[in-house]
Amino acid sequence: MHTETIAIHAGNLTHSTTGDVTLPISLSTTFFRDEDGGYPGGHMYSRVSNPNRSALEKVMTDLEKGADACAFSSGNAAGMTVFQALPPGSHIIAPDDMYWGFKKQLQSIFEGILSIDFIDLSEISEIEKHIKSNTVMIWVETPSNPLLKVTSLSAIAGLTKKHRLIFACDSTFASPCFQNPILQGADIVMHSSTKYIGGHSDVLGGILVTAAKNELWDKIRNIQQIGGAVPSPFDCFLLLRSIKTLAYRMRGHAENGMALAKHLSVHPKVEAVFYPGLPSHPQYEIAKQQMSGFSGMMSILVKGDAKKVVNKVKLFAQATSLGGVESLIEHRASVEGPDTKTPQNLIRISVGLEHINDLIADLEQALV
Ligand SMILES: *Cc1c(COP(=O)(O)O)cnc(C)c1O
Repeated sequence: MHTETIAIHAGNLTHSTTGDVTLPISLSTTFFRDEDGGYPGGHMYSRVSNPNRSALEKVMTDLEKGADACAFSSGNAAGMTVFQALPPGSHIIAPDDMYWGFKKQLQSIFEGILSIDFIDLSEISEIEKHIKSNTVMIWVETPSNPLLKVTSLSAIAGLTKKHRLIFACDSTFASPCFQNPILQGADIVMHSSTKYIGGHSDVLGGILVTAAKNELWDKIRNIQQIGGAVPSPFDCFLLLRSIKTLAYRMRGHAENGMALAKHLSVHPKVEAVFYPGLPSHPQYEIAKQQMSGFSGMMSILVKGDAKKVVNKVKLFAQATSLGGVESLIEHRASVEGPDTKTPQNLIRISVGLEHINDLIADLEQALV
């Protein structure tokens, strides 16, 4: 079946005696046992599993063409679970522009437990030089933040197969509609479902999807259930509701994103536009091959004071995060703090679902 159909039906696991057409919110923390001590409803205690989370995990498994999924209370909790599942003393390779929350985790929480090389993964020939005897994983983020760098999934899959490494991919910027890393050789796909999957800036969440139910996955499931960083049934309900319109929202984000990127790429006040859907993007050919759409994320370098521009917009909300129906704009360097490598004249834009002409008009009056 196609993405639009999977999104609407795969998570709708209704078996209610009241005849619900959509899955109700199940708030019960605990579930009846039968005479033999079994659990006839399939659930025992809500941290371990519950109907809403199981439904969310089912639809995400199907959308990402995986074997199973684990849902978490945030994207950060999902990513951290992968790092926690690795043997102490392991070495991992991660992108130099890795999502800063993960970089912070690895440098603080996992200091002395894991060793990490942060390198430019778009230079495939450089990666092999960093593989050591204790390297266990390559973590990829594509497209990346904030420069929208694209890493070749098939090239990384070739390397991780050859060296028997875990291949994990943060696919948040692409959404399951535009990129399925498992089909290109990834072992684990990660999403911050706070972003496009939730899509309305009103729920935090994270997802891991696995290509196979193996030893690593058993550890991850165990950390989810015993560690307890799980989403509430209401969080899962909101995400399930959002996923039903994901394919249509992504089309809108991609259409607006492309139109805005084209407009800004010839704007006299704009020095550069980083959008994987533009032929001027350095990895455009790779992006075209592994993505079926380019979403609504872009960064621009402005001529002049970027902070003035973000203060002058009226329709775009000046706020961090991305992937919601409302357009967001952000001066990224001041969010990342004094040790950032992000250029001071960079603005990150999450293009929402407003009419494109209103978005262009707002930026026109701000870019003066
Ligand atoms: C937001 C984000 C995360 C972290 O997710 P949270 O839901 O904020 O914890 C991880 N990776 C990427 C690419 C993100 O944009």
